[in-house]
Amino acid sequence: MPEVLARTRLRRPHRQVPEVARLVLPELAADAEDVLEDTVMDKEQQAIERLRLAAEMSEAYYDGAPLIVTTSGGKDSDVCLRLAEAAGIRYEVQHNHTSADAPETVYHVRDTFRRLEEKGIKCTINWPTYKGQPVTMWNLIPQKLMPPTRIARYCCAILKEQSGKDRMITTGVRWAESTKRKNTRGIYETFHSDPTKQIILNNDNDDTRRLFEDCRMKAKRICNPIIDWEGRDVWDYIESEHIQTNPLYCEGFSRVGCIGCPLAGKRSREIEFSRWPAYRRAYIRAFEKMLEVRKERGKMNGTWRIVTTGEDVFNRWMEYDIVPGQITFEELEDGTE
Ligand code: SF4
Repeated sequence: MPEVLARTRLRRPHRQVPEVARLVLPELAADAEDVLEDTVMDKEQQAIERLRLAAEMSEAYYDGAPLIVTTSGGKDSDVCLRLAEAAGIRYEVQHNHTSADAPETVYHVRDTFRRLEEKGIKCTINWPTYKGQPVTMWNLIPQKLMPPTRIARYCCAILKEQSGKDRMITTGVRWAESTKRKNTRGIYETFHSDPTKQIILNNDNDDTRRLFEDCRMKAKRICNPIIDWEGRDVWDYIESEHIQTNPLYCEGFSRVGCIGCPLAGKRSREIEFSRWPAYRRAYIRAFEKMLEVRKERGKMNGTWRIVTTGEDVFNRWMEYDIVPGQITFEELEDGTE
């Protein structure tokens, strides 16, 4: 058994079998613990195998280029980085600078990169561009003429998903994070701007793997090695491997993505804006610039007439002053560019 797995078995906590079960039915409880340990170990070994296959494909299809392990600075990325190390593969690491990440996340990525670079691993920070120019969340909003919303997530495509073109990458995406991901993401994927041409594989069996390996498309391919991990698998692995995670988890944050992300719940966003008020001000300034551009282009018609200041837009974006039946930004997608 590889050393990493042996260590994991020893440290795995037995918290999932209730103490009372161990007292009443000690033998059955011991069996249950073994099953639980084996399940988590299977997932770990499976993830390592997925990474090894992805690394092989990367070198075979992309002229010897190593697999890119992407990191967002969150716990799932940290787990992927550790698994890549355990897999003993050739890889490099990339992070996309969104400009809306918390300072703690930026510092955590920097620390992680320093540690990896000391081990000789190439680490790169990607600075996004839009229409050939450097872009941030703050100058993208005025260009798009509306705030990002749950439906119009233009910021993700531009700030987070541009890198890794014509390469094989990994992400820390997990099905447990949302029903949508369960339906649209797979263990291995090809990336295509036309979703009907995308290949998404949801299991590791030989037939589906062959299908992916046989695909000659040179576009971006994605491997999601921990896609079937539950949140507790992630935390168990972090604990057993003593992985240093983003300090924001210790403050009680359950997600450490962009501040104010419209995909987060209203309460989470409120907590974020009270913790980092400078980001609230940055969004309001971006909304003010967006309104100026809309006015210049004569696009203050319809519901847009209701919002006259950046603060108004912010309040509607946070769904503070929307009465039932009123149009929300998500219904105003047509205005985007
Ligand atoms: S704000 Fe949310 S939707 Fe936009 S880039 Fe960040 S994570 Fe993606």
